[in-house]
Amino acid sequence: MTMAGRKSSTETAVRVRVRGVVQGVGFRPFVYRRALAHGLAGWVYNGEDGVEIHLEGPAAAIQTFLDDLEQNPPPAARITVVETEACPPEGLPRFVILESRKDDRPTVRISPDLPVCAACLYEMFDPADRRHSYPYINCTDCGPRYSIILGLPYDRPRTTMKGWPLCAECTREYDDPLDRRFHAQPVACPRCGPQYFLKVGDELRGTDQDAIAVAAKLLRDGRIVAVKGIGGYHLACDARNRAAVRALRERKFRKEKPFALMVKDLEIARQLVELREDAARLLTGSARPIVLAPTRVELDAVAPENSELGLMLPYAPLHYLLFAAGTPDVLVMTSANRSSEPIAYRDDEAAVRLAGIADAFLVGERPIARRVEDSVVRVGPWGPVIFRRSRSYAPGAVASLPADRPILAVGADLKNTVTLVVGGQAFVSPHIGDLEYFDAYQAFQETVRDLCELYEVAIEDVLVVHDAHPEYLSTKYAQELGAERLAVQHHRAHVASVLAELGAWDTRVVGVAFDGTGYGDDGAIWGGEIFAGSLAEGLQRVGHLRQAALPGGDAAARFPVQAAAGFLSQLDGLPDLTAPPFNFGGRYRLAVDLVRKGLRTFPTTSMGRLFDTVAALLGFTREITFEGQAAMWLEHLARQSPAVPPYPFPWSGGMLDFRPLLAEVIADRLHGRPAAQIARAFHTAVAWAVWETGMALREEYGANIVVLSGGVFQNALLLDELAALSTQDQGIQVRVNHEVPPNDGGISLGQAAIAALHQAQQASH
Ligand code: ZN
Ligand code: ZN
Ligand code: FE
Repeated sequence: MTMAGRKSSTETAVRVRVRGVVQGVGFRPFVYRRALAHGLAGWVYNGEDGVEIHLEGPAAAIQTFLDDLEQNPPPAARITVVETEACPPEGLPRFVILESRKDDRPTVRISPDLPVCAACLYEMFDPADRRHSYPYINCTDCGPRYSIILGLPYDRPRTTMKGWPLCAECTREYDDPLDRRFHAQPVACPRCGPQYFLKVGDELRGTDQDAIAVAAKLLRDGRIVAVKGIGGYHLACDARNRAAVRALRERKFRKEKPFALMVKDLEIARQLVELREDAARLLTGSARPIVLAPTRVELDAVAPENSELGLMLPYAPLHYLLFAAGTPDVLVMTSANRSSEPIAYRDDEAAVRLAGIADAFLVGERPIARRVEDSVVRVGPWGPVIFRRSRSYAPGAVASLPADRPILAVGADLKNTVTLVVGGQAFVSPHIGDLEYFDAYQAFQETVRDLCELYEVAIEDVLVVHDAHPEYLSTKYAQELGAERLAVQHHRAHVASVLAELGAWDTRVVGVAFDGTGYGDDGAIWGGEIFAGSLAEGLQRVGHLRQAALPGGDAAARFPVQAAAGFLSQLDGLPDLTAPPFNFGGRYRLAVDLVRKGLRTFPTTSMGRLFDTVAALLGFTREITFEGQAAMWLEHLARQSPAVPPYPFPWSGGMLDFRPLLAEVIADRLHGRPAAQIARAFHTAVAWAVWETGMALREEYGANIVVLSGGVFQNALLLDELAALSTQDQGIQVRVNHEVPPNDGGISLGQAAIAALHQAQQASH
């Protein structure tokens, strides 16, 4: 084609701006290759707000290019906006990649870690390939990002790969725009890159392929192996070997909390759980989270008294190599830590902390820059809901907020995350954990510093948002920062987290926040709260669970009978609950005593504690060993009953009255009604109560959207029952969290949203 020909009347030109996660993900080489394939001239570079492209050539070819871009973007990219604008052709001779502008904004820079891609897998299993069996194989379409970044801009010397200079062959790939590894920062090969090795105590038992083979054999033999992965260490063992799983529980001090599994492939997954198509897509998709799904088998040591299993597919090259080396096809793959502490990710720290737990260590040399845990997702009736947001999701932007000024929201103390708002984009940190644990609190501080550094925000400039709880460690931390502050009530933050996801600032909603614990406006322990309003006009508390007493305060969360003592104190004519069939023990009697004397007893409207009370009445009278256990036990029980009519749980005068409900639970229990039916009738009652409250309030407040958030809405049965109700009446629309968890992991986003609106309003006055 001659230059004259290029300027014919069919020639046109466009400028394209692509926003989202489009840098550091192979976007420019992708554009380059597609432009060559379509015979287009022009250029591409990383600009301030994303990738800027200039294309010229036949209009039809440009259109095909644009269709291609939208339909088959590079796997690692997350495109949010594509803007195109016609411009005059400049008669450019070819297509080129231009150097990045220096002032590119940090908001577009950080991609999450990605699972190994099909092309890399193919090479890894090809005996003729130079990366055959190499566990650090990667390319621009796959591999680590966030977990290896030491600083920005994202470039090899500022990653944990800086200690491994590229060999000639890797350099050639890295420099060739037509190569899949063009500017793939972690690129490496067995000749120049890091290796894996296997250690038992101080003894080296194998390197490279041998290390993996030995690890596979140890796992087959029922041993526990610490495996260094992408964002930290896992503890692995054969999930079908009950003795191995029990040993892991004992050594990890984790009595009953379910373990996550990694399974060899989708077929094995389908043997273990019921997988809807959307759940299967999630499992095999590029995020590779742990997917919760209804169990089809008994793996009682893995997930005792639970209706679900959490499983994931391999995502690191190493995982594929392990399964190929004959590792059992269902592995327990749990974060290497003691319960509730953050995942271990530094080699020295892991060696010490896991010494008494793991029989062997499969360790890779590439350092991990920051911990990233496996994310957890369930597909609910309204789509996927994330329960733990970390690998593949964090620190991506989850919402755009109307904020000019940077905001740092420090979240809640349980299941902590922090959110940084910069340039109007809300970035939610990976899951951090429970701040009462020293390691988690340290991780929390590190994460705040890290996020601020990555996004180039000075702490002095931010508006700091924290929970209204005066005793939260996160609150105290916020106070010490010395920046301007705003306190946000816990349950408003829950509701706001959904509104932030929706980008709904003015939409009036009924907000239902049901959870275990949160500090209320009146200092009481809230947790069964109904709000009306919008983010812009504020969320007004218009109702709540009828107030009960809680002996021992927040500590009562560990003992369902203690919560029961407080809730049942509101009823008349109680039977002797220390006698069969209830058999409440000494702790109940002590708690009753506290309530009677009004000692260490606090007012509460906690829905979580109502679930605990019912669980206690149906037989869960021991101490819980992990948060939410009694409610999970109750849900599991309820699933064993067919649908039954609900117990009465009336809404009137702004109050949900639990007394008639509990009275019937007690009466039914005394009459010998099966506990599963009672549990089911209770769940249905809660669903109806939510529904009827929404119906009652929709006229009054002009809101036909009901927003549900808070830890109680992790209950799949409750959501299923609500979904069934919502199909009967289209007058109310239900909205739930998707991008951040309904549990306290979503609080920081909600705090940020409320602060952003608060700011916007102050600015306009
Ligand atoms: Zn790849
Ligand atoms: Zn190399
Ligand atoms: Fe909460």
